[in-house]
Amino acid sequence: MIDEKGILFILSGPSGVGKGTVRKALFEKDTDLKYSISMTTRTKREGEQEGVDYFYRSKQTFEDMIKNNELLEYAEYVGNYYGTPREYVEATLNEGKDVFLEIEVQGALQVKKNFPEGVFIFLFPPSLEELKNRIVNRGTETEDLVKNRLLAAREEIEMMDAYDYVVVNDKIDTAVSKVQSIVRSEHCKRERV
Ligand code: 5GP
Repeated sequence: MIDEKGILFILSGPSGVGKGTVRKALFEKDTDLKYSISMTTRTKREGEQEGVDYFYRSKQTFEDMIKNNELLEYAEYVGNYYGTPREYVEATLNEGKDVFLEIEVQGALQVKKNFPEGVFIFLFPPSLEELKNRIVNRGTETEDLVKNRLLAAREEIEMMDAYDYVVVNDKIDTAVSKVQSIVRSEHCKRERV
């Protein structure tokens, strides 16, 4: 017998570690996973699209959603809100499909309280120096924001023990195939004859 509900996968880790890159590469290979598009109050970066990268909303709309319990988790991260709309995740899991979240650490810890059966994957930077280089080279943040993101990263790394798996993002292809193996093995774990 196979569990009828889908599995919730949570990919988390510090900003700049390459969560987005790993997730996008994974979705090119694994078409069975459903990505939960997050909501944010931060401004759109060049090249990003509404309803693809994020749902961009005002602070007021976001706070109304918090009040109405419409978010599965949310966090204030470097001056902006980020959150996961609840309805999509719950409906998709109930349809038996796997859902994939790509979120920062405070949010992942909230999800763990409500979905302890979720599969928590921590993407780890090869080093803090490399993490800084990646944030700086992305060129989307001011100097102050880079500093704040690095401070947040140090705190986030301390939470690593709460996760089921740690994947070092040294080479992107290797990291992606490790995440793919985790997805496969979690399915095997839940299959019972
Ligand atoms: P960025 O501004 O670089 O797109 O995202 C900043 C951080 O917020 C990243 O670590 C990203 O993974 C995280 N993030 C994106 N969506 C969500 C979400 O729905 N909830 C939480 N808690 N974090 C999110």
